Amino acid sequence: MSYEIKTGNKQENSILWTGDFYNEGTGSGDIFDTLKEECGVFGVFGHPEAASMSYYGLHALQHRGEESAGICVADGRDFHYHRGMGLVKEVFDKDKIASLIGNMSIGHVRYSTSGDSRLANAQPLVFKYRDGDLAIATNGNIVNEPLIRKQLEQSGSIFQTTSDTEVLAHLIARSQKEFVEATKDALRQLVGGFAFLLMTNDKLIVASDTHGLRPLVMGRVGEAYVFASESCALEVIGAQFVRDIEPGELLVLDRNGFQEDRFAEPQRKALCAMEYIYFARPDSDLNGSNLHSARKRMGSRMALEAFVDADIVTGVPDSSISAAIGYAEQTGIPYELGLIKNKYTGRTFIQPSQELREQGVKMKLSAVRRVVEGQRVVMIDDSIVRGTTSRRIVNLLREAGATEVHVRITSPPFKNPCFYGIDTPDRRELIASYKTVEEMREEINADSLAFLTPEGLIQSIGGYNSGDYKGGLCLSCFDNDYPTQVDFGGEEKDGCSC
Ligand code: SF4
Repeated sequence: MSYEIKTGNKQENSILWTGDFYNEGTGSGDIFDTLKEECGVFGVFGHPEAASMSYYGLHALQHRGEESAGICVADGRDFHYHRGMGLVKEVFDKDKIASLIGNMSIGHVRYSTSGDSRLANAQPLVFKYRDGDLAIATNGNIVNEPLIRKQLEQSGSIFQTTSDTEVLAHLIARSQKEFVEATKDALRQLVGGFAFLLMTNDKLIVASDTHGLRPLVMGRVGEAYVFASESCALEVIGAQFVRDIEPGELLVLDRNGFQEDRFAEPQRKALCAMEYIYFARPDSDLNGSNLHSARKRMGSRMALEAFVDADIVTGVPDSSISAAIGYAEQTGIPYELGLIKNKYTGRTFIQPSQELREQGVKMKLSAVRRVVEGQRVVMIDDSIVRGTTSRRIVNLLREAGATEVHVRITSPPFKNPCFYGIDTPDRRELIASYKTVEEMREEINADSLAFLTPEGLIQSIGGYNSGDYKGGLCLSCFDNDYPTQVDFGGEEKDGCSC
């Protein structure tokens, strides 16, 4: 079967990474060998319970960052804020939320790379500048941040954190223009994928990079405005979804009301495809597509592209369950819970030995022997990073008695680093960058292995009919076609820095 898919018009300014430098990303000490979520942001304008709404919103975004959490509230005159290391429910209690009085707030949950997991980098970052207070929360990564930081340092700036966000604050503070124009000037200097919430004593500013790489949505609850990385955070506080924030857009909310503006013209739309495949919650909608439904379509398409007969279909929890249901519905092969996730694993602070690492995956996942024993199993997963976790899961199923394990991955091979806020391993550790599909099959000990095609992915997500180049998606980690410049002569940054 062949597929003829329209992916929009190829743009002249597509940038191919030459591979001259490497993403350093996460170290190899991670037990679970998965891509790391970036961060989550949540903002409220015009509600007396801004802090408690932020608490619930951030709780809904917890999957986007477990390292630290913070909320900053403005009461029209002063800021009140609290940040801490840990989960939202660990950082905040009733008294702390009650002390955050004001009707405007921004909040943040953060995943960080191992080297900078410290309170100083927890967001929102709060600054004093000539016109008052400034708080910033961001999701994403500024690729040219090291270059800008170096230039600022050479001209006298002193930085207190390693966060990108501080660079934006310095650029704004140095401008002679009023705050909104200064922010626009600063944003125009940044290259990368980012969603920013900025708050002064009397203003909330919301901005998305010119490609819309990172998700950001707007909602309303009563007269108040709410902004969040994912729509699931709107649902939890009873807010109505209004729309996605557009590439290059800048919204200003203050005593004059709500003003739609932009800091730059939109470029090729390139929303992160991994949000659909893996990161975002299945009950969120992105760009008009529900995540659960999109993942089901990926599973269904997978069945059309690389059918294999079997007795049961199972998905690696949690992100691949929807796709496994789609594969099962398309083929008629029963969907079964062949793998169970232990929800209480939590974070681990030990550097495990190889032996404990092998055990580590059993802490997180169990195969259900009564379900898989004697069965030919189709195992659906969202991606293969280094290959180590995939091999461990296949072996779990075999140890539980599966007679065959056929692996179907609902994304194309992950070959290239991310520069836009996803913390990926060093490129040399990405198994798809140096092995063929057959070699990967052998490595993960599967009976067969297949990946979803880029066309299948685009069509499943729903961008097929949009006419946008590549369905309006970033697929750079699969096809090495980056929407922005990523090489700044060695002065560039990859991964996640929110
Ligand atoms: S490179 Fe991959 S992970 Fe990064 S923004 Fe693009 S699609 Fe998402």
